[in-house]
Amino acid sequence: MIPPYGPVKVQRCNHPLLRERKITLFVQREDLVHPYLSGNKWRKLKYNLEDFKLSGATVMLTFGGAYSNHLVATAAASYLSGIPLIVVIRGEPHPENPYQEFIRSCGTKMIFISRTLYREKGDPDFIRTLLENQRIHPDACYVIPEGGANDAGTKGCEEICNDVPDESGWIACACGTGTTAAGIARAMKDHQKFLGFAVLNAGNYIRETMIKSGADEGRFHINEDYVFGRYAKVTHLLKNFIKNFHVQTGILTEPVYTGKMFLGLLDLIEQRYFREGSVITAIHTGGVLDFSIPLKW
Ligand SMILES: *Cc1c(COP(=O)(O)O)cnc(C)c1O
Repeated sequence: MIPPYGPVKVQRCNHPLLRERKITLFVQREDLVHPYLSGNKWRKLKYNLEDFKLSGATVMLTFGGAYSNHLVATAAASYLSGIPLIVVIRGEPHPENPYQEFIRSCGTKMIFISRTLYREKGDPDFIRTLLENQRIHPDACYVIPEGGANDAGTKGCEEICNDVPDESGWIACACGTGTTAAGIARAMKDHQKFLGFAVLNAGNYIRETMIKSGADEGRFHINEDYVFGRYAKVTHLLKNFIKNFHVQTGILTEPVYTGKMFLGLLDLIEQRYFREGSVITAIHTGGVLDFSIPLKW
């Protein structure tokens, strides 16, 4: 139903600071897997789509904000695999928003709800009422939580580790819900440690999610020093970093997730957080979207 992409390309990052500090940095290009089923969202959808098939449901339902990579990926998967999809979007419709334009073009039904109501998205009663209003029987609907943050999502993210070079002592990744982090930390090799960069002030939530999913507390750390205020806030420093990083390495990042991670990672390398000779693999989880690319497998 969803192609078994991979192995995912891993490249060595050539940044002048890495030579200076004698650090090897690999970048695992999950972002190049597909223009819309981007990065970790593809990983999280893989087993959700399998579970959908097993469930006997006929429609999928999921949730997200106005600029959600998860909604874009799920809408693309729905279009490509022919599974009807309803998405619940936080806030008002914005016809000019390219994310919403794309989602609509996939044939996805969009329901907009207030920020207050959106907080109920995890409540079974709320979901039941929502489905009743759409005249959908609960058994006919497979629900994927916001961000693809469920067990099937975590299981898919474990497979990120299959492509990480063995010599890596560290695996780094940007963290929103912590689902991707949980999958990686649970499946990484015994000699590896995980370093997550929180993109919102939710370090404790991320840590709890990881521990609940079975990650070993002693082998991961969630850094909260590079949030830059709040989720999706774009500072000048971050914008400049993204521009320079692209010029220096040829790797495109964006300000919500991967820009914060690479900025944090290079800053820690500069501060000698990692021992000389360390090998780090940074997971590029995607998020750089170009809506002019046609949607196909
Ligand atoms: C969603 C997303 C993340 C965060 O993943 P979580 O599993 O929610 O922590 C990281 N990077 C990108 C590009 C994303 O779209």
